[in-house]
Order: sequence, then structure tokens, then C-alpha cells
Amino acid sequence: MNPQALRLDHARALLREAGVALPPPASANDWTEIQAIIDGLCELSARDPLTGLPNRRAFLGRLTQELDRSSRAGEMALLLMIDIDHFKSVNDRYGHLAGDAVLRAVARLLSEQVRPMDTVARLGGEEFGVVFPHCGPTFGALLAERLRAAVAATVMPLPDGQATLQVTVSIGGAYSPAWVRSSVEHWMERADRQLYEAKRQGRNRVCIEPVPVNEVSPEEKDLLFAWHDASGYMIDAADAV
Ligand code: GH3
Ligand code: MG
Ligand code: MG
Repeated sequence: MNPQALRLDHARALLREAGVALPPPASANDWTEIQAIIDGLCELSARDPLTGLPNRRAFLGRLTQELDRSSRAGEMALLLMIDIDHFKSVNDRYGHLAGDAVLRAVARLLSEQVRPMDTVARLGGEEFGVVFPHCGPTFGALLAERLRAAVAATVMPLPDGQATLQVTVSIGGAYSPAWVRSSVEHWMERADRQLYEAKRQGRNRVCIEPVPVNEVSPEEKDLLFAWHDASGYMIDAADAV
């Protein structure tokens, strides 16, 4: 097939609007532009346009990876759900553009506070998610508190240059279950419950679900890695190769 036969105008226009530079239009047997268009669309589908952060779709992918790691390697990750407090009143009082500026500022602040291996995403509205891989309970509580304090301490200039504004966030957190198969939905639900609790307790605070005592025995861990023969019997991994 000749790449010139593809209908690409819409994709090119979308990428142009998003500021993605493309190589010259495809010529016969040259797929360079097509590959660049595919890469550009993949990138666009994973980003939130307002803040430039990964969007909910991309974040769910990251959480799936972390759950997998926790269940196989017992390495805990911390998920935080972060929601700006009384954000509706920012829009009502200063307008939607000011609200957008606050969302961008909070996104930047959160990104500046985390390590390169952590992921900050905008999940929708005024809600953000952060996942910290390889993160134990003591360290996790400190990280969450640092994010909360950084937002509360920041004075944000509004777009008209006339006023400044401070906002606070409420944070709910839950650790990925080590050595246990779970689902992203359940993990998010647990963190959301803590976020609800932080709001209920008065906002501008962090609530993290206590880490359950790990009662998985070495035999149960072996079951996670065990191979099964066709009849369902467990066989030793060393015998299986
Ligand atoms: P709470 O402390 O309970 O979280 O109260 P809240 O006011 O932050 O929460 P509520 O859910 O009542 O309001 C969220 C507001 O966020 C309402 C909606 O208009 C606004 N919002 C959602 N997305 C955007 C956006 O992209 N830009 C702007 N400016 N506002 C947004
Ligand atoms: Mg809110
Ligand atoms: Mg909200």
C-alpha cells in the first residue's frame, strides 16, 4: 500500500493544533511521516491538554504496572488522590480562566515535588493522582504531607495580574497490596475513601489507609509463582523447564 492513499488530514490538523512538528508529507514507500503521526497521536491520547500532565487513561496504565510489581515482587507503591478544596468558589469568584490558571499552577507544584520515577496525573476536574513506586509507609506519609504543605504555602498570581490566591488540597492515600492480586479500581476506591475522609475532617489534610500487617506465608508466596500442569496440579518451577 502507498502511504499517500491514507486519509491523514484530520490527524495532521490535530497534531498541528497541539504544536507537534511533523516531517514532510509521506511520499510513496516512505512511512516516516506516518510513524510520526502515530507517535504524536499516542502522545496526545495520554496527555491532559490544560496542564500537560498524563491523563486518567495514562495513569490507569501506570497503576496497572505498579499493581503487577507489588503482586509479584512485594514492592509497595503509594497512590494519592488529591482534590483542590472549595475550587468551585475560585471559579465563581474569579472566573473560569483564573480557575484554569490555578489548575496549571497546582499541576506544576505537584510535579516539582516528586521524584523522576513518580507519576503525577490530572484525573479530571480539580482532581489529581500521584503514584510513588517503591514507597514504604513512613516515607509515603512524609511525601504526601510535603505535597499538601507545598500547595498550601504557595501564593498564585491570577492571569489579570490584579490578585493573588492561595488554595489548599485534601489528599487520600492507599498502598498497593504486596503479594496479592488486586485491581486498579479497588486501589483507587481505597484511596478515594481516604480522600473523602480528609474532606470530612475539614480539608487541607492527608489521610492514608493504614498498611495491613502482611500475613502472607512463604507457602502462599510460592503459590503466586507456581506452575500448574494441564490437570491443575502445581508443579515445581525447576521441574517445569
Ligand atoms: P470540595 O472542597 O468539596 O472538593 O469542593 P469543590 O468546590 O472543590 O468541589 P466541586 O466538585 O463542588 O467543584 C469542582 C469545580 O471544578 C466545579 C467545576 O466547574 C470546576 N472545574 C472542573 N474542571 C474544570 C476546569 O477544567 N477548569 C476550571 N476552571 N474549572 C473546572
Ligand atoms: Mg474539590
Ligand atoms: Mg473534586
